[in-house]
Formats: sequence, C-alpha cells, structure tokens
Amino acid sequence: MSKTILITGSTSGIGLGIAKAFAEKGYNVAFNGLEPNGAEIAQQVADQYKIAHTFSPANLMQPDAIRTMVANAIKTFGTIDVLVNNAGIQFVAPIDEFPDEKWDAIIAVNLSAAFHVTKAVWPAMKAQKFGRIINIASAHGLRASEFKSAYVAAKHGIVGFTKTMGLEGAPYGITCNAICPGYVDTPLVEQQIPAQAKAHNMTEKEVIEKVFLERHAVKEFIPIELLAQTALFLASDDAKTITGIAMPVDAGWTAQ
Ligand code: NAD
Repeated sequence: MSKTILITGSTSGIGLGIAKAFAEKGYNVAFNGLEPNGAEIAQQVADQYKIAHTFSPANLMQPDAIRTMVANAIKTFGTIDVLVNNAGIQFVAPIDEFPDEKWDAIIAVNLSAAFHVTKAVWPAMKAQKFGRIINIASAHGLRASEFKSAYVAAKHGIVGFTKTMGLEGAPYGITCNAICPGYVDTPLVEQQIPAQAKAHNMTEKEVIEKVFLERHAVKEFIPIELLAQTALFLASDDAKTITGIAMPVDAGWTAQ
C-alpha cells in the first residue's frame, strides 16, 4: 500500500517541489495552500504521477481548520506516514516599524501551525509506531538577520520544537527533523526584494547580490530539488536513527 504524505503550503515553492518528489515515489499526497488555483495545481501533480491526492485550502492560522484538514486526510488515506510542516510567510521591517499583526501572523503560520498540525497527526503515527516529521525551518533558525525579528524568532522556535518532538517521538518510531535552507528562489523570496531594497537603501539587484547571496559561500540559490531529495532521505528507513536535528542546506551560510 502506498504511503501518505501531508505537506502544508504545497501549492507553491519548496512545498510543491517536495510534493512532486514524493509523488514520483508513489506516495499519496495531501496538499494544502492558499493559492487560489491550489486545487488545480494539486490535480496536475496527481495526474502527472498517477497518485491519489487530497487538497485542503485550510488557513493554518485557524487551529480548527487544521484539525479538519488532518482528519479528512486520515479519513481518505487511513493514516499519515510523513508530515512536512512547510508553509511559511515573511515580512521585513525594522523593529520600530514592524506591524503587530505581521508579528502575530508570522508566529501563527511559521511556528504555531506546526504545533497544531503535529498534534493532530501524532495519534495516527503513534498508533502505527512509524512517522516522519520534517519541519522546513531556515538558516534563520540558526542565524539572525536584521529586519526579520518575527521570522527569525519563529524559525529558532521551530528548531526547538523539532528537538522536543525528536525526543517525544523516539519511543514510537517517529522521527522529527528540521531542514534549514539558505535562500531559495521562490515567491516568498521574490516578494521581499522590494522591502529589503527599501530597508537597506539598495537597488533590487544589489539586494540579491549583497543581502541574499552574500551569505552563501556557494554563490547560488539552493535548488528546490535538493531540498526535496533531503526530505526524501529524512523520510526513508535509512534515516531512522536521525532525529531532533536542524540540518543546514545553506550553501555554507552557517559555516561562517
Ligand atoms: P512560497 O511563498 O512559495 O510558499 C509558501 C506556501 O505556504 C504557499 O503554498 C502558501 O499558500 C502557504 N501558506 C502561507 N500562509 C498560509 C496559511 N496561513 N495557511 C495555509 N497555507 C499558507 O514560499 P517558499 O519559499 O516555498 O517557503 C516554504 C517554506 O520554506 C517556508 O516555511 C519558508 O520560511 C521556508 N524557507 C524558504 C526559504 C527561501 O529562500 N525561499 C529559505 C528558507 C526557508
């Protein structure tokens, strides 16, 4: 029987790349995301790889919607074997201009949602004595940058959550690990270029070279496919004794 993966924020960017890689391996995929054409995007992946799928437009700021999404996926597929807490948002501003509602939204989506989804999935993983939880954190879970107070706080938080779930999952065959990417060319990064340019008083080209890739020893964006392959490895039996880690995939950023 095919295994099932639930990926939050899987109708764009990194989450979509992870969905395609697992679909290629024959996983059933439970998609989620706020893209208006999310159902269509999920259907296209399912058609391409001939897999079973569900799509939920649940807003991860709402714990009730999260619980419904997880219950529906379990009802459809019987269980969830792999959970990827991937959905995330960003906002860039100096602390004295940082809107309170942006702080609350970033903590809700990038940190609290992972708690609520994990809590909802946990009983099914515990019952079957197998589970793989992969949190898409960030190099910003290990390092700070100015003007990203909420994002850096949330990503450091999810690294701590990962370690705790690694310990709690160990007796039940559940592993929990975080992947900490450097900069990846996705809509999330594209959207912050104008605000970064304003905050740093730079052109948009200078932001790419001096703010983003300046941190990378390897002067390239991280390919989405590399992150998807990392997730596949962490979900495999070979990775059964790897748990509670925050794995940088960051072109040498955190080596500095
Ligand atoms: P993206 O904007 O392409 O995708 C984000 C996904 O999350 C989308 O599908 C979006 O609909 C979904 N989402 C956002 N808010 C949501 C909500 N309230 N409810 C449900 N879904 C919601 O971004 P991405 O770059 O692919 O980011 C994915 C993850 O990777 C995020 O956690 C991000 O912090 C992390 N990350 C990204 C980079 C990068 O450089 N792009 C680097 C490190 C970590």
